[in-house]
Amino acid sequence: AEGDRPAIAAADLSHAFGDVDVLDGVSLSVASGEIVALVGPNGSGKSTLLRFLARVRAPDEGTVTVASTDAGGRARVGYLPQQPGFRAGFSAADALEFYAQFVDEDVNVAEVLERVGLADAADRRVGALSGGMTRLLGLGRALVGDPAVVVLDEPASGLDPGMVERLFDIVSALADAGVAVVLSSHNLGPVERTADRVVVLDGGRFVADDDPRAVVESVGAADLQTAFGDLV
Ligand code: ADP
Ligand code: MG
Repeated sequence: AEGDRPAIAAADLSHAFGDVDVLDGVSLSVASGEIVALVGPNGSGKSTLLRFLARVRAPDEGTVTVASTDAGGRARVGYLPQQPGFRAGFSAADALEFYAQFVDEDVNVAEVLERVGLADAADRRVGALSGGMTRLLGLGRALVGDPAVVVLDEPASGLDPGMVERLFDIVSALADAGVAVVLSSHNLGPVERTADRVVVLDGGRFVADDDPRAVVESVGAADLQTAFGDLV
Protein backbone atom coordinates (compact mmCIF):
# COMPACT_ATOMS: atom_id res chain seq x y z
CA ALA A 1 0.00 0.00 0.00
CA GLU A 2 1.05 3.61 -0.60
CA GLY A 3 1.21 4.23 3.15
CA ASP A 4 3.69 1.41 3.66
CA ARG A 5 6.24 2.84 1.26
CA PRO A 6 9.00 4.82 2.96
CA ALA A 7 8.91 8.54 2.23
CA ILE A 8 12.62 8.31 1.47
CA ALA A 9 14.89 5.30 1.13
CA ALA A 10 18.64 5.26 0.69
CA ALA A 11 20.10 1.92 -0.36
CA ASP A 12 23.75 0.86 -0.05
CA LEU A 13 25.30 4.31 -0.30
CA SER A 14 29.08 4.34 -0.56
CA HIS A 15 31.28 7.33 -1.20
CA ALA A 16 34.96 8.20 -1.08
CA PHE A 17 36.76 11.54 -1.14
CA GLY A 18 40.16 10.72 -2.60
CA ASP A 19 41.18 7.52 -0.86
CA VAL A 20 39.06 8.18 2.24
CA ASP A 21 35.88 6.05 2.43
CA VAL A 22 33.40 8.44 4.00
CA LEU A 23 30.36 6.18 3.60
CA ASP A 24 30.59 2.41 3.31
CA GLY A 25 27.31 0.72 2.36
CA VAL A 26 24.82 2.78 4.34
CA SER A 27 21.05 2.17 4.01
CA LEU A 28 18.26 4.20 5.60
CA SER A 29 14.46 4.31 5.21
CA VAL A 30 12.30 7.00 6.77
CA ALA A 31 8.50 6.85 6.95
CA SER A 32 6.09 9.76 6.65
CA GLY A 33 5.73 11.42 10.03
CA GLU A 34 8.93 9.91 11.37
CA ILE A 35 11.87 11.90 12.83
CA VAL A 36 15.29 10.30 12.42
CA ALA A 37 18.30 11.91 14.12
CA LEU A 38 21.71 11.26 12.63
CA VAL A 39 24.56 11.58 15.10
CA GLY A 40 28.29 11.02 14.94
CA PRO A 41 31.55 12.83 15.58
CA ASN A 42 32.71 15.67 13.38
CA GLY A 43 33.96 14.33 10.07
CA SER A 44 31.94 11.11 10.31
CA GLY A 45 30.05 11.86 7.09
CA LYS A 46 26.74 13.26 8.34
CA SER A 47 26.68 16.26 6.00
CA THR A 48 27.78 14.09 3.08
CA LEU A 49 24.96 11.61 3.71
CA LEU A 50 22.39 14.40 4.15
CA ARG A 51 23.47 15.97 0.82
CA PHE A 52 22.82 12.63 -0.85
CA LEU A 53 19.39 12.36 0.79
CA ALA A 54 18.62 15.92 -0.32
CA ARG A 55 19.83 14.96 -3.79
CA VAL A 56 22.16 17.92 -4.16
CA ARG A 57 24.95 15.39 -4.85
CA ALA A 58 24.99 11.79 -6.02
CA PRO A 59 27.02 9.13 -4.19
CA ASP A 60 29.65 7.00 -5.93
CA GLU A 61 27.39 4.00 -5.33
CA GLY A 62 23.84 3.40 -4.18
CA THR A 63 20.42 4.94 -4.73
CA VAL A 64 18.12 7.42 -3.04
CA THR A 65 14.39 6.97 -3.74
CA VAL A 66 11.75 9.52 -2.78
CA ALA A 67 8.10 8.48 -2.92
CA SER A 68 6.55 11.90 -3.51
CA THR A 69 7.26 14.05 -6.58
CA ASP A 70 5.91 17.43 -7.67
CA ALA A 71 4.12 18.26 -10.93
CA GLY A 72 7.48 18.60 -12.66
CA GLY A 73 8.60 15.16 -11.47
CA ARG A 74 11.03 16.50 -8.88
CA ALA A 75 11.37 14.78 -5.53
CA ARG A 76 9.57 16.76 -2.83
CA VAL A 77 12.55 17.08 -0.48
CA GLY A 78 13.36 20.24 1.44
CA TYR A 79 16.92 20.83 2.62
CA LEU A 80 18.58 23.02 5.22
CA PRO A 81 22.34 22.97 4.55
CA GLN A 82 24.76 23.21 7.47
CA GLN A 83 25.80 26.64 6.18
CA PRO A 84 22.88 28.16 4.31
CA GLY A 85 23.59 31.39 2.45
CA PHE A 86 21.03 34.16 2.23
CA ARG A 87 21.30 37.49 0.46
CA ALA A 88 21.39 39.93 3.35
CA GLY A 89 19.59 42.68 1.44
CA PHE A 90 16.41 40.68 0.79
CA SER A 91 13.46 40.84 3.13
CA ALA A 92 12.62 37.53 4.81
CA ALA A 93 9.57 37.18 2.53
CA ASP A 94 11.56 37.99 -0.64
CA ALA A 95 14.26 35.49 0.37
CA LEU A 96 11.61 32.74 0.35
CA GLU A 97 10.01 34.08 -2.86
CA PHE A 98 13.42 33.67 -4.48
CA TYR A 99 13.38 29.92 -3.73
CA ALA A 100 9.70 29.63 -4.66
CA GLN A 101 10.68 30.17 -8.31
CA PHE A 102 12.37 26.79 -8.36
CA VAL A 103 9.44 24.60 -7.32
CA ASP A 104 6.41 23.54 -9.32
CA GLU A 105 3.95 24.35 -6.56
CA ASP A 106 2.00 27.45 -5.68
CA VAL A 107 3.99 28.71 -2.72
CA ASN A 108 2.31 30.74 0.01
CA VAL A 109 5.30 32.50 1.54
CA ALA A 110 3.20 34.04 4.32
CA GLU A 111 2.08 30.56 5.34
CA VAL A 112 5.68 29.28 5.36
CA LEU A 113 6.79 32.22 7.52
CA GLU A 114 3.89 31.47 9.86
CA ARG A 115 4.93 27.80 10.13
CA VAL A 116 8.42 28.78 11.31
CA GLY A 117 7.21 31.55 13.61
CA LEU A 118 8.47 34.43 11.47
CA ALA A 119 5.14 35.97 10.41
CA ASP A 120 6.06 39.25 12.12
CA ALA A 121 9.48 39.35 10.43
CA ALA A 122 8.25 39.11 6.82
CA ASP A 123 9.44 42.62 5.90
CA ARG A 124 12.68 42.61 7.89
CA ARG A 125 16.00 42.51 6.06
CA VAL A 126 17.65 39.12 6.33
CA GLY A 127 20.86 40.84 7.40
CA ALA A 128 19.04 42.33 10.40
CA LEU A 129 17.71 39.02 11.70
CA SER A 130 19.27 37.32 14.74
CA GLY A 131 21.19 34.07 14.26
CA GLY A 132 18.22 32.11 15.56
CA MET A 133 15.75 33.84 13.28
CA THR A 134 18.07 33.30 10.31
CA ARG A 135 18.06 29.58 11.14
CA LEU A 136 14.24 29.61 11.27
CA LEU A 137 14.28 31.30 7.87
CA GLY A 138 16.56 28.51 6.63
CA LEU A 139 14.01 26.02 7.92
CA GLY A 140 11.35 28.03 6.07
CA ARG A 141 13.41 27.80 2.92
CA ALA A 142 13.41 24.00 3.32
CA LEU A 143 9.61 24.09 3.56
CA VAL A 144 9.04 26.04 0.34
CA GLY A 145 7.18 23.73 -2.04
CA ASP A 146 5.48 21.75 0.73
CA PRO A 147 8.02 18.92 0.89
CA ALA A 148 7.14 15.37 1.91
CA VAL A 149 10.66 14.93 3.32
CA VAL A 150 12.89 17.50 5.04
CA VAL A 151 16.62 17.06 5.52
CA LEU A 152 18.10 19.38 8.15
CA ASP A 153 21.85 19.58 8.68
CA GLU A 154 22.57 20.65 12.27
CA PRO A 155 19.51 22.90 12.50
CA ALA A 156 20.09 23.55 16.22
CA SER A 157 23.83 24.23 16.24
CA GLY A 158 24.88 27.47 17.87
CA LEU A 159 21.38 28.37 19.05
CA ASP A 160 20.48 29.33 22.59
CA PRO A 161 18.40 26.75 24.53
CA GLY A 162 15.13 28.61 24.01
CA MET A 163 15.63 28.70 20.25
CA VAL A 164 16.67 25.03 20.24
CA GLU A 165 13.35 24.19 21.89
CA ARG A 166 11.48 26.31 19.34
CA LEU A 167 13.24 24.62 16.50
CA PHE A 168 12.53 21.09 17.74
CA ASP A 169 8.88 22.09 18.39
CA ILE A 170 8.58 23.09 14.73
CA VAL A 171 10.21 19.82 13.69
CA SER A 172 7.68 17.89 15.82
CA ALA A 173 4.81 19.80 14.23
CA LEU A 174 6.14 18.95 10.76
CA ALA A 175 6.25 15.26 11.64
CA ASP A 176 2.74 15.46 13.12
CA ALA A 177 1.64 16.85 9.75
CA GLY A 178 3.10 13.76 8.05
CA VAL A 179 6.48 15.07 6.90
CA ALA A 180 9.43 12.66 7.11
CA VAL A 181 12.34 14.38 8.89
CA VAL A 182 16.03 13.49 8.85
CA LEU A 183 18.28 15.78 10.86
CA SER A 184 21.77 15.80 12.27
CA SER A 185 22.30 17.22 15.72
CA HIS A 186 24.71 17.42 18.63
CA ASN A 187 21.87 18.27 21.04
CA LEU A 188 21.35 14.98 22.91
CA GLY A 189 18.46 16.15 25.13
CA PRO A 190 16.15 17.47 22.39
CA VAL A 191 17.02 14.51 20.16
CA GLU A 192 16.05 12.03 22.89
CA ARG A 193 12.77 13.86 23.42
CA THR A 194 11.87 14.39 19.78
CA ALA A 195 13.37 11.71 17.54
CA ASP A 196 11.64 8.40 16.82
CA ARG A 197 14.97 6.88 15.83
CA VAL A 198 18.61 7.69 16.40
CA VAL A 199 21.17 6.55 13.85
CA VAL A 200 24.82 6.61 14.91
CA LEU A 201 27.37 7.01 12.12
CA ASP A 202 30.96 5.99 12.76
CA GLY A 203 33.70 4.97 10.36
CA GLY A 204 31.35 5.22 7.38
CA ARG A 205 28.85 2.74 8.77
CA PHE A 206 25.80 2.82 11.01
CA VAL A 207 26.73 1.41 14.41
CA ALA A 208 23.20 1.88 15.82
CA ASP A 209 19.74 2.52 14.40
CA ASP A 210 16.98 2.29 16.98
CA ASP A 211 14.69 4.31 19.21
CA PRO A 212 16.58 6.82 21.40
CA ARG A 213 16.28 4.83 24.62
CA ALA A 214 17.56 1.63 22.99
CA VAL A 215 20.47 3.50 21.39
CA VAL A 216 21.47 5.03 24.72
CA GLU A 217 21.37 1.53 26.22
CA SER A 218 23.26 -0.22 23.42
CA VAL A 219 25.87 2.44 22.69
CA GLY A 220 26.08 3.62 26.30
CA ALA A 221 25.52 7.18 27.44
CA ALA A 222 29.23 7.98 27.67
CA ASP A 223 30.06 6.67 24.19
CA LEU A 224 26.98 8.35 22.81
CA GLN A 225 28.17 11.62 24.27
CA THR A 226 31.41 11.08 22.36
CA ALA A 227 29.41 10.27 19.24
CA PHE A 228 27.54 13.51 19.67
CA GLY A 229 30.88 15.24 19.62
CA ASP A 230 32.46 17.98 21.60
CA LEU A 231 29.66 20.48 20.97
CA VAL A 232 27.40 19.04 23.69
P1 ADP B 1 30.25 15.62 9.28
O1 ADP B 1 29.09 16.38 8.72
O2 ADP B 1 29.84 14.40 10.03
O3 ADP B 1 31.15 16.49 10.14
P2 ADP B 1 31.23 15.55 6.55
O4 ADP B 1 30.24 14.78 5.74
O5 ADP B 1 31.21 17.03 6.42
O6 ADP B 1 31.15 15.08 8.08
O7 ADP B 1 32.68 15.06 6.15
C1 ADP B 1 33.05 13.69 6.18
C2 ADP B 1 34.48 13.53 5.69
O8 ADP B 1 34.54 13.83 4.30
C3 ADP B 1 35.48 14.46 6.35
O9 ADP B 1 36.68 13.78 6.48
C4 ADP B 1 35.61 15.60 5.39
O10 ADP B 1 36.85 16.21 5.51
C5 ADP B 1 35.44 14.90 4.06
N1 ADP B 1 34.82 15.75 3.02
C6 ADP B 1 33.59 16.29 3.08
N2 ADP B 1 33.32 16.98 1.96
C7 ADP B 1 34.43 16.86 1.17
C8 ADP B 1 34.79 17.35 -0.13
N3 ADP B 1 33.92 18.07 -0.86
N4 ADP B 1 36.01 17.02 -0.60
C9 ADP B 1 36.87 16.26 0.11
N5 ADP B 1 36.59 15.77 1.34
C10 ADP B 1 35.40 16.07 1.86
MG1 MG C 1 28.43 18.29 9.02
